[in-house]
Amino acid sequence: MQAEFNNGHSPAEAHEPGEPPSFETLARLERDVNDLIGALALLGVKRCGHCKQFFRSSDPGALFDCGELVCFGCIREWWSSYSGKLHVTSRDEIERKLSAWLRKYHQAEIVKEGSDKQLPPGDFQIVTTCSECRGSGKLLEGQRCRFCNGLGTVWIVVPS
Ligand SMILES: [Zn+2]
Ligand SMILES: [Zn+2]
Repeated sequence: MQAEFNNGHSPAEAHEPGEPPSFETLARLERDVNDLIGALALLGVKRCGHCKQFFRSSDPGALFDCGELVCFGCIREWWSSYSGKLHVTSRDEIERKLSAWLRKYHQAEIVKEGSDKQLPPGDFQIVTTCSECRGSGKLLEGQRCRFCNGLGTVWIVVPS
């Protein structure tokens, strides 16, 4: 059993102080960190891919999951750089998921685009396809969609 704890490294191999860490040392450290992150995930702690902070995954409002994990504190900055890189189809899907998440956990409201309501400048807002008319601006009967004023898009506004 002893050999397992040593991990095959004798003390003579230990790294000299003052010397820059070797590639092997760094690779081993990286493996260790990844192992730890894996272990934390088992314990229900997950990490924001943006700010690298850890959050409890039992709190569904803490991290938004769209393949990568982003915490609420980072969402605004992340979305502004990330949304531009997405293809339209996946962007639509993630926008829908993000709006649902923001509405469910962060009191976000749907605001009609072009409405007179003044949006406080500090609020986080995303423009998303109207879910009532699926972006067509029209309802089944051909009437103008009243949820988005026929524009096909609405704002999702998160109070700051
Ligand atoms: Zn974050
Ligand atoms: Zn609509």
